[in-house]
Amino acid sequence: MSKFIHETVTHVHHWTDHLFTIKTTRSDSLRFRSGEFAMIGLEVDGKPLVRAYSIASPAWAEELEFFSIKVQDGPLTSHLQHIKVGDTLLVSKKPTGTLVLDDLLPAKHLYLLATGTGLAPFLSLVREPEMYERFEKIILVHGVRHTAELAYQDFFENELPGDEIFGQWVREKLIYYPTVTRDEFKNQGRVTDIIKSGKLFTDIGLAPMNKDDDRVMICGSMAMNADMSAILDDFGLTVSPRMGVPADYVVERAFVG
Ligand SMILES: Cc1cc2nc3c(=O)[nH]c(=O)nc-3n(C[C@H](O)[C@H](O)[C@H](O)COP(=O)(O)OP(=O)(O)OC[C@H]3O[C@@H](n4cnc5c(N)ncnc54)[C@H](O)[C@@H]3O)c2cc1C
Repeated sequence: MSKFIHETVTHVHHWTDHLFTIKTTRSDSLRFRSGEFAMIGLEVDGKPLVRAYSIASPAWAEELEFFSIKVQDGPLTSHLQHIKVGDTLLVSKKPTGTLVLDDLLPAKHLYLLATGTGLAPFLSLVREPEMYERFEKIILVHGVRHTAELAYQDFFENELPGDEIFGQWVREKLIYYPTVTRDEFKNQGRVTDIIKSGKLFTDIGLAPMNKDDDRVMICGSMAMNADMSAILDDFGLTVSPRMGVPADYVVERAFVG
């Protein structure tokens, strides 16, 4: 029996030459927790060609959503970027991952720290009711190089706060903090730098990160994940050692780069 479910593409949106979003049908049999990833891909030369992808839609949604890079000459994304409505997307049957609410101990604030397509799992979690029930404030930091790469900015600034189901929670609890390194923008600096220097906390009006009040999820490149983890360790936070063991922060690789 195939390890993959065949889903049908319902929507494709190209944000830039390097970033796009795919939505597909969702089979009833596909179960996952918000924040998890699946293996997704295409049949190429008669064989499945798949890569790990965070599921950007929440666990309750009827559709699946993925937020993807286009790597020039990338084995999968050189093909995937040409996918069209009506095409088939292979999705593995057993999503998994570390960016789940179950693996965080209770606290007041939840920081979701992303660079690039590392935003994907947090697109799922910001539509997860449990997150708003468990935390007083949720701070989503999205770091990119250029302003054009701030995909989903309108979703965070307009669509989500106006949402019938989530609007009130979002307006009261969610702080969206996009930050850019190579263009002029209201917030500038690398995610790691603005946390280390304290600029982020000054800007949002919260106390510097500490073990009593704050929990964190990290999703970016290997380098960002490692640098960020070292900073959190210095703040006295403890990483979840493995899936199913709750702690102060959890980390997932969005890509190996
Ligand atoms: C747990 C996990 C979750 C992931 N979730 C996503 C996701 O939601 N969206 C997504 O686009 N990718 C995600 N990735 C990366 C993804 O698995 C592939 O690497 C990516 O789709 C490129 O595939 P490829 O075959 O074209 O090139 P690959 O051979 O896989 O990658 C080629 C090179 O491109 C760079 N690269 C790969 N992915 C990215 C990226 N996302 N951003 C910047 N540089 C990158 C790296 O330097 C890599 O060595 C995830 C990876 C892991 C491990």
